[in-house]
Amino acid sequence: MSIENLARANVRELTPYQSARRLGGNGDVWLNANEYPIAPEFQLTAQTFNRYPECQPALVIERYADYAGVNKDQVLVSRGADEGIELLIRAFCEPGKDAILFCPPTYGMYAVSAETFGVERRTVAARQDWQLDLPAIADSLDNVKLIYVCSPNNPTGNLIDPDDLRTLLEMAKGKAIVAIDEAYIEFCPQASCAGWLKDYPHLAILRTLSKAFALAGLRCGFTLANEELITLLLKVIAPYPLSTPVADIAAQALSTEGIRTMRQRVTEISANRSWLQRELENCACVEQVFTSDSNYLLARFTASSNVFKTLWDQGIILRDQNKQPGLSGCLRITIGTRDECRRVVYALSALPGATETRQEPM
Ligand SMILES: *Cc1c(COP(=O)(O)O)cnc(C)c1O
Repeated sequence: MSIENLARANVRELTPYQSARRLGGNGDVWLNANEYPIAPEFQLTAQTFNRYPECQPALVIERYADYAGVNKDQVLVSRGADEGIELLIRAFCEPGKDAILFCPPTYGMYAVSAETFGVERRTVAARQDWQLDLPAIADSLDNVKLIYVCSPNNPTGNLIDPDDLRTLLEMAKGKAIVAIDEAYIEFCPQASCAGWLKDYPHLAILRTLSKAFALAGLRCGFTLANEELITLLLKVIAPYPLSTPVADIAAQALSTEGIRTMRQRVTEISANRSWLQRELENCACVEQVFTSDSNYLLARFTASSNVFKTLWDQGIILRDQNKQPGLSGCLRITIGTRDECRRVVYALSALPGATETRQEPM
């Protein structure tokens, strides 16, 4: 008997998350994982590696609560926001009975995490404008215990209408947890729902140090929610989710100085995004560039697989979104340094548009 046959049926059938790292490539311009392009420098201050770390390092919790404008008992720190996504499923969904709900096109880990645990994945496609289809969601809530909404949404870049989020929270009251994934909220801080926690015991907000804080390699994320919900997540989290070096560096990143640096990065990346958006709109091979409140742009190309391959061969690695519902011809481009943005535009300007197959206006 093969080991494969011993595995749980849902694990045998599982397609693991196609992370940018797993997909590989030999680039020198990495624009496929929404990382910050330059490594920040840190020194370790902790040396007590003989001891187990704190489960919820006090300084990290205190600084994040301060930064997010919530109470300390409303913060949980975990191994990336991805662990937060998983903890919610572990705490709230009974395998084979309960379901999660999300609205494609969106972040891939909600589906992968649910699948790993044998929890049903129910989808309600986003509307054409990528906002929530609230009537369809209302009709799909049987057995749903957990609803994930990503805002700004990855990969489309748009914010979800706050009135719709309120309606969703009302709809889910007493039935399901609403998890709002704010991985990119630093790029549009005024849109955060963190101030709503006092109104909704069933609201959870996911955050990360991987994007605007430039620390994807650290693996550190946060869940914001009221104490009752946080206490449930603490029941199912690993005893030592963060190593001592991670807690050390996270605390430094969340110091006054660290937050100031993060805000400078946001300003710089947002300026590069505006620049790249204008340049893309002038490229013959680009059909449409979507408005973004994040550190990436989604664009529809006249021949996206050719664009993807041509840039790949030049060491510029983008993220192909073709397979996502409603995103045929779309590529996602992380905003890098201005120089990296220029490399993209230069490579694209050499590509033909669809003019050969279209009628030119007279
Ligand atoms: C990057 C990302 C995450 C994962 O963040 P980590 O803290 O690196 O695990 C979660 N949600 C969305 C929408 C993301 O884009």
